[in-house]
Formats: sequence, structure tokens, C-alpha cells
Amino acid sequence: MSTRVILTNYIDGRLCAPLSGRYLDVYEPAVGAVYAHCPDSDSRDIDAAVRAAEAAQPAWAAAPAAERARLLNRIADRVEARMDDFVAAESRDSGKPVSLARSLDIPRAVANLRFFAAAATQFASEAHTDATSINYTLRQPIGVVGCISPWNLPLYLFTWKIAPALAAGNAVVAKPSEVTPFTASMFGQACIDAGLPPGVLGIVQGSGPGAGQALIEHAGIGAISFTGSTRTGAMIAAVAAPRFKKVSLEMGGKNPTVVFADWDATDANWATIVRSAFSNQGQICLCGSRLLIERGIYEKFKATFVERVRALHVGDPREARIDLGAVVSRAHFDKVMGHIDLARKEGGRVLCGGEALRVDGRCADGWFIAPTVIEGLDMRTRTNQEEIFGPVVTLTPFDGEDAAVALANATTYGLAASVWTSALVRAHRVAARLQSGIVWVNCWMRRDLRTPFGGVKQSGVGREGGYEALRFFTEAKNVCVQLDQA
Ligand code: NDP
Repeated sequence: MSTRVILTNYIDGRLCAPLSGRYLDVYEPAVGAVYAHCPDSDSRDIDAAVRAAEAAQPAWAAAPAAERARLLNRIADRVEARMDDFVAAESRDSGKPVSLARSLDIPRAVANLRFFAAAATQFASEAHTDATSINYTLRQPIGVVGCISPWNLPLYLFTWKIAPALAAGNAVVAKPSEVTPFTASMFGQACIDAGLPPGVLGIVQGSGPGAGQALIEHAGIGAISFTGSTRTGAMIAAVAAPRFKKVSLEMGGKNPTVVFADWDATDANWATIVRSAFSNQGQICLCGSRLLIERGIYEKFKATFVERVRALHVGDPREARIDLGAVVSRAHFDKVMGHIDLARKEGGRVLCGGEALRVDGRCADGWFIAPTVIEGLDMRTRTNQEEIFGPVVTLTPFDGEDAAVALANATTYGLAASVWTSALVRAHRVAARLQSGIVWVNCWMRRDLRTPFGGVKQSGVGREGGYEALRFFTEAKNVCVQLDQA
């Protein structure tokens, strides 16, 4: 083993090595080289974390909600106190611009913890009464739950899951993506510093087929909250179903951005449309990858959009002026480049990008792809059907509202959509007709953490966010008390 950083698991309140002694390479995408090693944990590490969680959970659940909230806030304090370190680590691990990690990822991780700390103290249950009886609903924690998160928004999505699970009184065993394990590893230290009781949270690093599979199969895990690809989600659902585990699945998307001729083409709105396509190198499940443009403005929209995309800066994530960094891994780089080749074979015209980019200096071997805009593809092509999850979007003209809705709904996914129009009534009408868990009107990725978050069709099962998340991580028990003497 070299002098590179060695990451740890966090089990039973301690930072520890995997029992097997095996490690996985962790790459810095912007330079294309290994810089750390993360535990290649297996079922024994998962079992140790689950056993510690089972021991810790009753006291954690019995603690007043205000005490759980206090500890979640203390963890948030610890992350905030090391903001610069977390920001640098998230950027280095994932290839995303430092500026994005600073403006989005880490502040949002802190906000997740604080939001669910507050929510824990506000969570209420229902009562149903009549003259003869009173029914009330107890919302009790499930016990030990498993949380599995992906690489695109590593700490952001990791905390989005563990915070409500912990707030609701569960103990958690979490497995971050092996591709971006760094900030979750740092998070273990933050939990120690904050005084989180040992065992309440276990962080077990490792591969999907290794640690991930062992986690979802473990008999001690009562519910699984997963964010990742639809393929893995389907596999998790198949494992969970015969074991009757509760599952929440947040999966892929192929999101439409629907632009009507009457949209308000201000500079700010243009910036949002471009950001919605290419933020985080297009590696956000909410990114709009299919831009549907009303035909009357198609050519004009295309010209301005392509001009703005060409003006984006791709480069070293540490540089302040860059808009896009590297994509997350060599395998993902190859996948995205393969999709661009496929788009050409399917008859697509590449209007800009369409190639790997070489960045001079320390990033010469990094995995950079020019933001790519393609037109001329039927909605049934693989390019328009499959999630690429990179800096690649298509443009398609439409004629009228019905056609826009039909094109927007013409995939197996249904996560998010944005609709751009100045016509108030049309905005509401189209929003209601879209097969999508989330619709933004004249905006994108504005997030109020109280709102339900999730997808329909092959984008998801269940909802996260606000009380939805607290409901997922609890079991409802009805208690009926007879009032009359009959
Ligand atoms: P993957 O499905 O490959 O992985 C997601 C997580 O599942 C990772 O931690 C992975 O581990 C783990 N995993 C893989 N195989 C198994 C297994 N057999 N058992 C248990 N866990 C397993 O997704 P990506 O990491 O590639 O993330 C990108 C995907 O996530 C995209 O499809 C994107 O749309 C989706 N996503 C959805 C969001 C939503 O809210 N709907 C938000 C963000 C992303 P490892 O990485 O170590 O293999």
C-alpha cells in the first residue's frame, strides 16, 4: 500500500479498517489517478455495524426528539466548522467544481441535518375520533435501516437519507458509493466529535456487490432507502420483496425541459436553462437532458443555447472561473462518450461538443467531456430514451401543447420536468399532465425541503423530503380506545 490516504469505516463509534484488510482504489477524476484507498468491506463489516446499531437503537429511539435534534445539529456544526476541508474533499473525489461543492453540496448536507433535526421535534401523528372511540396513530421507528447513496452528490444525498432516518429514532447503517467515499469517511469523525452515541450510525464503505448487497440482504435491516440507477434499484427491490423490507427507491431520469414560444427569455432564465442541462457535468438526476422547444422559436432558441453552451468553461475543478469539471470515473467517461457515438449513429447532428477535452497542466489525464448538444433525433431513439447522466442533451421541436406533453411523457422515466411559459393557465395545465414526480415552472432545482421528492414510472417508488421521509422511516400503529360503555 502506498502513502495515499487510507479511508476508514465508522462502526460502533470508532473509525476502523475493513475486517478483510482489503481496499479499493479511489481516483481523482480531474487528474485520472488514484489518490486514496477505501475499505472494501464485506458481510462481516456490515454484520458488525448492524449488531452495534441494534444495541444502540432502543436508547436512541427512547431519547427525547429534542435530544436527537441536538445531536444532529452538533454533527452539522462539525461539518460546518470544517467546511473548507469538506468542500475540497468533495470536489477532489468527484471531479465537480470546488465552487459547486461550496455553493451546493456541503451547505445542503448541513441543511439536511438541520432540517431533519427541526422536523424531528415537529413530527406529529393523527387522531380520529367519534362519540364511541378515539383512534390515534403511533409513528414508531422501524429499528435498524439501511441507506445507500450514489456518487453524484455524495454527502448531499448521504445526509438526505440518514438525517430523517436518525431523526425518526432509527439506527442506520449507510453505504456510500465506492466511487466517492471521501466525505462520508470524514463524516464519521464529525459524528465522533459531536458525541453521537456509538452504533447509532454505521458507515460501511465498499462496493455495491460486496458491502451493498450484504446490507440489503441482512436480516437485521428493516427498511432500505436507496438512491442510484434504475438497474440497481430493480435489483434491490427484488432482494427486498421476499424479505418484506420497506423500500424507498430514488432512481434515474430522462427529464424534459419544455420551452414554449412565450417563455420569458431573460438572461437569468437562459442561465437557469443552461445550468439545468449541464450543472455537475449533467450528473444530477434532476438535470434536463431532453429540451423540447416550440417550433416557432426553435431555430432562434437553438442558436442562443448553443452559443451559451460553447461559452461554458470546462477545466480544473479548483479554478474559480470554470463551469464544468471532470466526469466521475473512467468507466463513466467511456459510457458517456459511447452515448455520443451512438447518437451520431442514430442520425443525430452534434451542434457543439461531442468530444473529450484535454485540459493542460495537472489535469492533462483527467476525464473531461465538452458539453454536448445534439439535434435531429426521434424521441424513440436510444439517445432520447436512455439516461446518459453526463453533459449531453438533445433538442427537439414540438407543435402545440399536446405534442409537448406527449414528447415529455414518452420515456420510461418520470422524475423531474421543467416548463417554461408566460401563460399562467397553461403552466398549471401542463404541470398536471406531465408524468413526473416533480415539475418546476419557470425555474429549476429550487428545493424546499418540506416538499415531497421522488419519481414515477421507472424513476422511483416512494417519496423523500419533509414528513414523507419521516413517515417512510417509521411504522404507523393505530391504537383504538373505546369511549362508550356498550
Ligand atoms: P448505482 O445504482 O450504480 O449505485 C448507487 C449505489 O448503489 C452505490 O452506493 C452503489 O455502490 C450501490 N450498489 C450497487 N450495486 C449494489 C448492490 N448489488 N446492492 C446494494 N447496493 C448496490 O448508481 P450510481 O452511483 O451510478 O448513481 C447514478 C444514478 O443515480 C443515476 O441513474 C441517477 O439518475 C441516479 N440518481 C437518482 C437520484 C434521485 O433522486 N432519483 C439522485 C441522484 C442520482 P458502488 O457505487 O460502490 O458500486
